[in-house]
Amino acid sequence: LVTRMRPFGTTIFAEMSALASRTGAVNLGQGFPDTDGPPEMLAAAAEALRGGQNQYPPGPGIPPLRAAVAAHQQRFWGLEYDPDGEIVVTAGATEAIAAAILGLCEPGDEVVCFEPYYDSYAASIALAGALRRPVTLRPGAAGRYAMDPDELRAAFGPRTRLVLLNSPHNPTGKVFTPAELTLVAELCREYDAYAVTDEVYEHLAFTDAAAGHMPLATLPGMRERTLRISSAGKTFSCTGWKVGWTSGPSSLVSALLRVKQFLTFVNAAPLQPAVAVALGLDDSYFTDFRAGMQARRDQLVAGLADAGFDVLPPEGTYFVTADVTPLGARDGVEFCRALPERCGVVAVPTQVFYDDSEAGRRLVRFAFCKRPDVLAEAVTRLQQLV
Ligand code: PMP
Ligand code: GLN
Repeated sequence: LVTRMRPFGTTIFAEMSALASRTGAVNLGQGFPDTDGPPEMLAAAAEALRGGQNQYPPGPGIPPLRAAVAAHQQRFWGLEYDPDGEIVVTAGATEAIAAAILGLCEPGDEVVCFEPYYDSYAASIALAGALRRPVTLRPGAAGRYAMDPDELRAAFGPRTRLVLLNSPHNPTGKVFTPAELTLVAELCREYDAYAVTDEVYEHLAFTDAAAGHMPLATLPGMRERTLRISSAGKTFSCTGWKVGWTSGPSSLVSALLRVKQFLTFVNAAPLQPAVAVALGLDDSYFTDFRAGMQARRDQLVAGLADAGFDVLPPEGTYFVTADVTPLGARDGVEFCRALPERCGVVAVPTQVFYDDSEAGRRLVRFAFCKRPDVLAEAVTRLQQLV
């Protein structure tokens, strides 16, 4: 195994999902929904499969999907992208993140990112031979995760190539505020850095908790330096399809595509027309999706608080983090490893998403993208802990 990959073991999601199936525990670890996405989308996929759309599609994605991605971004965020040259389909957001970093970073370049971060970030940065400069998000006033503007400023420097920003943010559930985004944008302009934005939870900013989702590319001077990434997995409850996309100015999209063509070449032909159908659904689909997830959030937040956790209610995503110290635990990793035996529930330790492992030691993450009866069962089991 090459040196640069040695720090990376099996992903925490694989480890925890294996633990769940071995013990029969309720799996609130890995974030995937337990119900299928919109029936129109599923029908379109079946039709494409039977209709012979089973050979290599075009490298950047089929034109109807690129057109649907463009229309969707125009409809929800007022962003204009040319489907020919400014949009590329990828194997989920994961491939887009890797290809963006590999296509934009020279060895030794620095990537500013916010910890705790999604686990593929550190690995993709390492594959490129780049260095991560983490800025730590910490629980602050009113249980909201906040960043220290001075820490962010200090993370930028002459070697900064790009900032990797995920909002709504996994695992904290933080939705970056307009003021925070404005500072990120200012620093990108000042240091002439690119931005790669992971917006897979773009439709999961909860209306009662946050000002709403704001793509960084909508801020002045940012469209021309931002690669904006999203994926069908979250919005349309099809995480197993691995259909994602990236939008940006053609120079940056070409840099990504140069790498992508040698990673996967093209992606799942019959799923692409289906995702195009989903992106074109009425506004009510997106509103109902968010409202449904918001109700599940409320259910799990209340249940965890009842079970004795110190809960940090999320402003977005389908994850909630909680401090385990009120339950007599000190370490989230030990807590999560023992939890299936103790009460038949799987959660993910937030610590593994930090470089500063002290900062996340007491935090664990639960996914609430599950049926209400499954969440209720998990809560009943967790209540046995006290
Ligand atoms: N980024 C974040 C923040 C995520 O939570 C996920 C979840 N899977 C991904 C990227 C990866 O998305 P995909 O499955 O589309 O590769
Ligand atoms: N994004 C999901 C999570 O954070 C799943 C990711 C994965 O399994 N790689 O749980």
